[in-house]
Formats: sequence, structure tokens, C-alpha cells
Amino acid sequence: MENKKKKLSAYYKPYKGLFLADMVFAMIGAAITLVIPLMVRYITGTVVLLPIEEASSTIIRLGIFMVLLVIVEGYCNYFIGYYGHVMGAKIEHDMRNEIFGHYQKLSFAFFDNQKVGHLLSRITSDLFDITELLHHGPEDVVISTIKLVGAFIILLMINAKLALVAIGFVVIMLLYAVGMNNRMRGAFRENRARIADINSQIEDSLSGIRVVKSFSNEETEMDKFEEGNSRFVASKKRTYRFMGSYNSGMGVFSTLITVGSLLMGAWLMMKGELSTADLVTFLLYINNFTEPVKKLVNFTEQFQNGYSGYERFLEIMSIAPDIKDKEDAQSLDRVKGEIQFEDVSFHYSENKENVLSHVNLDVKPGEYVALVGSSGAGKTTLCSLIPRFYDVTGGAVLLDGIDIRDVKLKDLRRQIGIVQQDVYLFAGTILENIRYGKPGATDEEVVNAAMAANAHEFIMSLPEGYHTDIGQRGVKLSGGQKQRLSIARVFLKNPPVLIFDEATSALDNESEKIVQHSLEMLAKDRTTFVIAHRLSTIRNAQRILVLTEDGIAEEGTHKSLLAQGGIYAGLYNMQF
Ligand code: ADP
Ligand code: MG
Repeated sequence: MENKKKKLSAYYKPYKGLFLADMVFAMIGAAITLVIPLMVRYITGTVVLLPIEEASSTIIRLGIFMVLLVIVEGYCNYFIGYYGHVMGAKIEHDMRNEIFGHYQKLSFAFFDNQKVGHLLSRITSDLFDITELLHHGPEDVVISTIKLVGAFIILLMINAKLALVAIGFVVIMLLYAVGMNNRMRGAFRENRARIADINSQIEDSLSGIRVVKSFSNEETEMDKFEEGNSRFVASKKRTYRFMGSYNSGMGVFSTLITVGSLLMGAWLMMKGELSTADLVTFLLYINNFTEPVKKLVNFTEQFQNGYSGYERFLEIMSIAPDIKDKEDAQSLDRVKGEIQFEDVSFHYSENKENVLSHVNLDVKPGEYVALVGSSGAGKTTLCSLIPRFYDVTGGAVLLDGIDIRDVKLKDLRRQIGIVQQDVYLFAGTILENIRYGKPGATDEEVVNAAMAANAHEFIMSLPEGYHTDIGQRGVKLSGGQKQRLSIARVFLKNPPVLIFDEATSALDNESEKIVQHSLEMLAKDRTTFVIAHRLSTIRNAQRILVLTEDGIAEEGTHKSLLAQGGIYAGLYNMQF
């Protein structure tokens, strides 16, 4: 993949201009901070000694100049604060698009092994850490370094003895800051872990709120939550204690350095080695030490967070989708719908047994084939090989005689419609949800599809008809209604091949009849695979396949299989 090992710095590239401007303004701002005390020194040490008229005109000129400098510094800070953040947000936008787009490309096997919460935090908190680093990192380092190094050089030039003492103090302050920062980092990390716990508990509990309530477990949930919530407070308490000592400690250090320099400066003044103006200048610089020291120390933490976030980002980005188009994948127009399994074997992972072994199957266009077998026999797995949700590990699946791996994935999946037991509806209106089957379909096409799926009537009986908002995942609809919407979606898509995977299994008898009728309408003239555990629904199938761990064990019509008196007959007699 092109971005497999993209360097972190590469993300600045589209914003080179903004980045450079940010750096330049950071430097100008830092330089002005350094210049102001020098001007104070000039005024207090030199200008005041001039004849009064010359002095006052110089002071006015310098005063105006200083005001201008302060305004420029203010603008620099504004620029960094505004455009620097904008650049950060743009980089974050790019990375977020990149990772979301990558998620969309990854295969089923990837999502089988991931928690959605974790994938979500890659996009949210990790990216935030990365862009904080990308945006504030260079700026903080540049500003702080200029301020510290510049001040040291100026101090050394004013008075080396005093400067060395001050530098000694600053080094001690730096050591203290690093030490405290290490302890705070641990506390911050714990905070983050605790808040992640809380978030995942909220997500879990609210997603399952219906189960919570049906078991009347609100209090248990609350107790569990309270436990996590208290742990978070305890962890925050620790953080605040460290933060309190850190900030006040730095304040004390800063004052100590000032007092120390003042005392030593006074002593040097008495010996005639230092002027009042120099001492004032000294104190002004020293006052500015704490902030850059804090920022530099902060940067080390920002760097660690940002970089480990980036490594997690890369980890995801470097996973290549298992299932994708071959280089020379061919396009495919609407197929007739013949499906062949040629000696197909499949296992989910190397270290697991085959779910399917040497399956051979030939389904003619328009044929209606039922798959039966005990739970776990591999019915769903067999069907998921047709749209290449997974690739066979042996043999081949052919569609109209073409190996499906030679076809563009998009063209292949266009040919196949799936109706499952669990219907997934997106937040939005009924209209939007049906149109998902064919983006860009006209309202009329949507209504026709709904009519064909036997859904039009109930939709019209809703207060807002097709514009009814169905709530998260369609909670406002009954199971049968949701299923009919999903059938309408497939009607609209109009594919030549269908898979019904236990489409009516979750429904009561009455809705089952209605939905079954809609499914039969849909199946007309299309190649259809039906998985059903209620055998009554597949009695009319042209062919029934009985799948066991050893492959297809029996094959025939309802009548012939009953007469055969094998597995199917056994299953059937158990149900009736
Ligand atoms: P059926 O639909 O006949 O009930 P499935 O095709 O769902 O059976 O499952 C067949 C076997 O494959 C089962 O042993 C099941 O545990 C396993 N299996 C199903 N889906 C996955 C998956 N995504 N990852 C790993 N194993 C799976
Ligand atoms: Mg299944």
C-alpha cells in the first residue's frame, strides 16, 4: 500500500506554507520577548543619563517602538494560536479520512477480530494526540529553545558570574520538572485508562439498555458504573496532587531564582561589578524562565503520546485488505446467475479445522435452492463465499462460469442481494434506508420497491410515511416491518442472485407468513439460496441440500428426501 510507512512529517506537506509561516511567527514572537528587556536596559541604563530633552524624545520614540513590538508579538501569538490550530485540524482531517477510508476497505476477517470501541478510539483520541504533537511540538520547541538559549547568551554577555548562577538554578528547576513530569505521566495514563473503562461501560450498557431493563438490572448496572466512576475520581485526585505540587513547585523555584539573583546581584552591585539597569534586565529575563522550561518538559510527554498514537495508527494502516481486486480484474455486466462450487474447501484461520471440505455444487440460473443442516454446519459460511466476504481456501466459486476472484469486487457484489435474520438499518428515514439499495433511486422507484416487498401499506400508516425517522437501528419498527424494509432494499438493488439467511427465523408466525410471501416475490426469476431452520418454509424448494460437517450429505426435493429416510427425514419428523 502506498502509505504503509508514511513518515509522520509527510503529513505537513500539503500545508508547507502554513507550517513555515507558523514557525516564522513563532520565531518573531520569541525574538520580541527577548528584545524587550534589552530595551528596558537601554532606557534605564543609558537614556536616563542623557540631557533631559534628548532623553525625553528618545523615550517617546522607544516607547512607541515598544508598543509596536508588543502589538506585533500579540499578532504572532494570534497567528500561532489560530492558524497553527487550523493546520493541526486539517492534518487531523486528512488522517481521519485516511483511516476511515482504510476501515471501509478492510475485509470481514479483520472486523471479526476487532472491537468497534478500539477502532473508534484510533480515530478519535489517538488522532488527537498525534495532531497535538504535530501542531504544538515544533512550535513549542522552537519558541522555548529560542527563549532559553537567547536569554542565557544575553545574560552571559551582561554578567557571566550572575548568569552561571542563574543557569545552575534553571538546571535544578529542569531536573525537578522532569522528575515530577514522569510521575504525572503515570497518573495521566491511569486517568486515560479509567475514562476508557467508563466510556466502554457506557457504550455497552446503553447499547444493551433493552436487555438491562428486561432483566430489571438497572441497579446492578449503576453499581458497576459507580465502581468505575469512583476509580476515575481516585485517579484524578492523584493527578491533581501531582499537578498541584508541580505548579507550585515551579512557582517556588522561579521565585527562588529571582530572589537568589537579586541577592547576588545586589552584592555584585556593591562591589561595582553590576549596574542597576543590568540587575533589572536580569530579573526580567529570569521571570520568563519557568514557561519555556515547562513547555520543553511538556513536549517530551506530547512526543511520547503522539508517537505511540502514530504507531497504533500505522499498525492499522499497514494491514492490507485480504480481499481486493486483482490487478487485471474484469468488469461484469448483469449475470444470468449460474453458481458453481468446484471442490471448495474453507477454514477461517490456518490453525482451525475446515468448515467446508470439497464441496461441489451447480446451481442453475433462477433455481431456488435450500440449505439445511444443524447449527454450525457451515450454511452461512458457504453463502458468504459467494459475495467473497471470505475467499475459499481450496477450489473455486464460479459465477456464470467465471472464477469470482477474477471479477471486480464491486461488480460481483452488485449481483448479489442478501436478506439476513438481523436487519441492520441506519439512523435516518425509511426512504433513506430503502434507497441504500440503490443510491440515486427516484422516490417512485423506492415506493415501487416497498410495494413489491409488501411494505408500502405499513409505511403509509406511519404518521410521516416514508419520511418517518426510524430511530437508532430501527428500534421504532417491529421485526417483520424491519425485515420487509430490508427486502425492499434488495428489490431496489434488483440483483440476479439472492441469499436468504434465516430471514424469517426471528419472526412470529403471522409476520413470518407476510415476510415469506415478500421473499417469494423477490426470488422470482433469480438464483436463490435459502437457509432456514423451519423446514416448512422450504418445502417448495426445487432442491434441498443437507449440509453436515462432512460436506453435502443429502440432496433432492422435499419428497425424495423424505422417502430416502435419512438426515432430512429425521430433522423433518422432529419438527412435525
Ligand atoms: P451455520 O450457519 O450452519 O449455523 P456457520 O457457517 O455460521 O454455521 O458456522 C460454521 C462454523 O464456522 C462454526 O463452527 C462457527 O463457529 C465457525 N465460524 C462462523 N463464523 C466464523 C468467523 N467469522 N470466524 C471464525 N469462525 C467462524
Ligand atoms: Mg448461520
